Amino acid sequence: MKAEKTVVCRITEPNKNKLKKLEREYNKVQRYIKGQDIDIYSATQQAVDKYTDFNSLKKDKEYPWHLRNDTFTAEKAENTKRFNYWAKIPIAEKHGKITVPIKPHTEITKEMKIHDSKIIKKEYGFELHLSVSKEVEPIKTYKGAIGIDMGLNKLAVSVSLPDRQTHCHGTHIGNIQAKYYFLRRNCSNGYVRKKWDNKDKNKIKDICHQTSRKIVNKAKQNNLIIVLGKLKGIQNQNKGRKMNRKLHNFPHWKLRNYIKYKAKWEGIPVIEVSEVYTSQKCSRCKKIGKRHKGEFKCSNCGLKTDADKNAAHNIAKRGIGKSLKTSSDTRSWKSKDLHTMQNQILCVEPRDMAQSKY
Ligand SMILES: [Zn+2]
Repeated sequence: MKAEKTVVCRITEPNKNKLKKLEREYNKVQRYIKGQDIDIYSATQQAVDKYTDFNSLKKDKEYPWHLRNDTFTAEKAENTKRFNYWAKIPIAEKHGKITVPIKPHTEITKEMKIHDSKIIKKEYGFELHLSVSKEVEPIKTYKGAIGIDMGLNKLAVSVSLPDRQTHCHGTHIGNIQAKYYFLRRNCSNGYVRKKWDNKDKNKIKDICHQTSRKIVNKAKQNNLIIVLGKLKGIQNQNKGRKMNRKLHNFPHWKLRNYIKYKAKWEGIPVIEVSEVYTSQKCSRCKKIGKRHKGEFKCSNCGLKTDADKNAAHNIAKRGIGKSLKTSSDTRSWKSKDLHTMQNQILCVEPRDMAQSKY
């Protein structure tokens, strides 16, 4: 199975001469994209033509400088510190290539295959976004599951089984959105509004990255599958362009996608289960209970707990149930309640991988 990701590398401290060359080439690419008759390196032109959406160009926007994979290199610098790398970047000038130091956010390893990539200009300088892939072996046996419930106030609550550890992630995401929504609504200056828009987006993106990293690390360390609730009524529906965009900006989509691709990179299965009743059912006795102000109460067994935690617990259980159903040794597990085997190790094979899009 092939897994892909992007390694973001900051281009660090190129000397003045190199920086000038980089900027010159970047500006040329911008002018080329905007339709000016300008000579850029032919392989770069090919890559730019391939990946730029020329139908929706905006006048004041800058576009990535795409690089064809056989025209640049990114490799570890010998005899230096662990995260020191060099990139050789092609430019349409004499001597063809410039070598710049880069700082990737994660290690670039030999097993990674480097694909067509791009250079992006940020406020603080240039970034090389390396598209990489590698072959991963999906994990065949696991010891439990981590269930994720995504809510509106807390971004996500995770419960892992069998150890029943609970974590709340992104508890202040609702506040961030509310704060910036309020700021934007009361602001008539388009420039400031745009700035707030980006601040809001970037903060939420960061939280989604951190949260997905924590969840995937937990799954990796404890050998767990990851179980997500299917978003009801949102997927497979076309609600028009504007509404679709809104739904896709919804942080849960982001979080979900980050979890999926980070898990895939580690070979961890992600399965999706129906969310029906996961918030109403008691995670201890399965009877329908009551939700009130974020608390779940079961009048049958007396369980009183955080409502999202209860839901995440149910999702994790459902995920294990789903894998067991498709596993060969179904019967031996079916008769037992999960709670009574908390300290036992579950070892089942995830056969039902169709949902996880592997
Ligand atoms: Zn109960």
